[in-house]
Amino acid sequence: MSEDTTILQTIIIGSGPAGFTAAIYAARAEMNPILISGMELGGQLTTTTEVENFPGYPEGITGPEMMGQLQKQAEKFGTTVIIDKVTEVIFGNKSGDIHTVKTSSGKEYKTKTVIVSTGASAKYLGKDFEEKYRGGGVSACATCDGFFYRGRNVVVVGGGDTAVEEAVYLAKICKTVYMVVRKDYLRASKIMQEKVDATPNIVLMYNHEVVDLKGENGLVSQAVVVNNQTSEEKTLEVDGIFVAIGHSPNTDIFKGKLEMDETGYLIVRPFSTETNIPGVFAAGDVADKRYRQAITAAGSGCMAALDAEKYLAHNKYP
Ligand code: NDP
Repeated sequence: MSEDTTILQTIIIGSGPAGFTAAIYAARAEMNPILISGMELGGQLTTTTEVENFPGYPEGITGPEMMGQLQKQAEKFGTTVIIDKVTEVIFGNKSGDIHTVKTSSGKEYKTKTVIVSTGASAKYLGKDFEEKYRGGGVSACATCDGFFYRGRNVVVVGGGDTAVEEAVYLAKICKTVYMVVRKDYLRASKIMQEKVDATPNIVLMYNHEVVDLKGENGLVSQAVVVNNQTSEEKTLEVDGIFVAIGHSPNTDIFKGKLEMDETGYLIVRPFSTETNIPGVFAAGDVADKRYRQAITAAGSGCMAALDAEKYLAHNKYP
C-alpha cells in the first residue's frame, strides 16, 4: 500500500458525465481534483451509439466521442485522471474529518471531500441459463458485441429505451432481431418506438419471456420463449441474446456506510448532492433512479462540485 500524505481537496470517483462535470467545476474552482476513473473509463456512455438528446449537439455525437471531450475539458483545467478502481473508502464521521480512499492498485489517498459518481451497470435476468452462456451469446451491450452477430438472428430482452436502442443498432447488423417484451406495450419513449416501427427486421414479441437458452460448447443456438398469457412456447433460432432490462447502481463498496434506498441508490438531501456523511457528495446515476440521463448526470456533477466547494469554505482544516 503506497500512502500519499498530501490531503486533497476532493476526490471524484467515477468517470461518466457526472464525474467529469464535477471535475471541470472543481478544477476551475482550484480544488485540484483527482478523478479515479473505475475500470470503464467514460462510464456507460462509452457503450452507447449516438447521443441525440444532449443539448448543444444538433447532429448528435457518439458516446465515446462525448466522453473523450469531457475528459479533455476536465484535464485542461487541471484535473488529474487516474485509471484505477476504488476498492474501499474509510469515511470520517463529522464535518472537517478526512476521508481515506483506497484503490485496487494499492494506492491510498486522503481527502477532505469525496464526490461519488460511480454510476450504474446493466442488469441481467439472473437465470442460470444466462450464466451458462455468458461470453457465448449472452451480452448486455450491442455496441460492444453486436459485431459478432453479423447476418445472424438475435434476441433483445426488454421494452425500454435501452432495449429499443440496442434492437435498432443490431437490426443494422443482424438478419432478424426478436424484441422479447414481457408486457403488452413498450415502455420506451414515443420517438424510440417509431424507430422500431420503421425497422422491418425487428420482430416485436409482446407478452413473451425468455425461459431457456440452448446450444453447444457454450455457444447459444436457440432461445426458448413463452407467451406469459397463453403459456405457448416457441423456439427461436438465434445466436445471441442481448439483455436490456435496466440498470443497478454501483454502490456495493458503500454498503453500510452511505445511506441508500432498498435498491442500492444513494440517498441525497433534496435539491442537493449531500449524502449522510459530511463532505461526501453523490452525483449522477448512482443517486438517480428516476431520470438517468447524461444531461441530468452532468447537472448533478456540477452541483456536487459546487456543494463540495462550499463545504470546504465552511470548514477549517488544521
Ligand atoms: P427501463 O427501466 O426504462 O426499462 C426496462 C425494460 O426492461 C422494461 O421494458 C421492463 O419491463 C423490462 N424488464 C425489466 N426487468 C425485466 C425482466 N426481469 N425480464 C424481462 N423484462 C424486464 O430501463 P432502460 O435501461 O431502458 O432505461 C433507463 C432510463 O434511461 C430511462 O429513463 C430511459 O428513458 C433512459 N434512456 C434513454 C435513452 C435515450 O434517450 N437515447 C437510451 C437509453 C436509456 P416492464 O415495463 O415490464 O417493467
